[in-house]
Amino acid sequence: MAKCAIALGSNLGNSLNTVENALKELANIPGIDLIATSSWYQTSPVGPPQPDYINGCVVLEIEQKPEELLTILQAIELQFGRVRKEKWVARTLDLDILLYDDLVIDTPKLTIPHPHMIERAFVLVPLAEIAPNWIEPVSKKAIAQLAKEVDCTGVRLLNQHDIS
Ligand code: ATP
Ligand code: CA
Ligand code: CA
Repeated sequence: MAKCAIALGSNLGNSLNTVENALKELANIPGIDLIATSSWYQTSPVGPPQPDYINGCVVLEIEQKPEELLTILQAIELQFGRVRKEKWVARTLDLDILLYDDLVIDTPKLTIPHPHMIERAFVLVPLAEIAPNWIEPVSKKAIAQLAKEVDCTGVRLLNQHDIS
């Protein structure tokens, strides 16, 4: 079994419903065990103007290889109605592989660790909640340390009573 960290994001439709149901789908897949789930955060968008995101992270134990996991994540994105293909635009669901054990790979389809995770507060803040001591193998820094080094304004704990 490998240990893997995934980032979830959504800023179209009922985002909280989407990320929570996407997690249930993921947890139901044979070979995948959900071992930790972060809080949900409401985060200001990076890139083109668009609605705020709901973001969170999970840690899994997984039998599947990284490429198989990517295929699974892309199928779940489609199941939740993701249609746009461009990067960084509004989407119903985005599932990114952040870390997979201490693996470092860079292929056209898959880069692990996720190449932008170390600069993204909307990834590092939730991940630091559930995996503060995990060492990101490219920077060789712990997630908690990386989270301290980014500007976390724009990443707010979601008050679930504020949205419906
Ligand atoms: P970003 O990658 O900057 O977060 P994005 O999530 O908007 O942008 P997508 O359009 O969702 O980008 O994905 C584009 C491609 O990125 C996918 O088709 C996939 O092959 C590739 N990819 C490479 N590395 C990863 C990874 N670690 N996790 C998920 N997708 C990845
Ligand atoms: Ca992404
Ligand atoms: Ca993605």
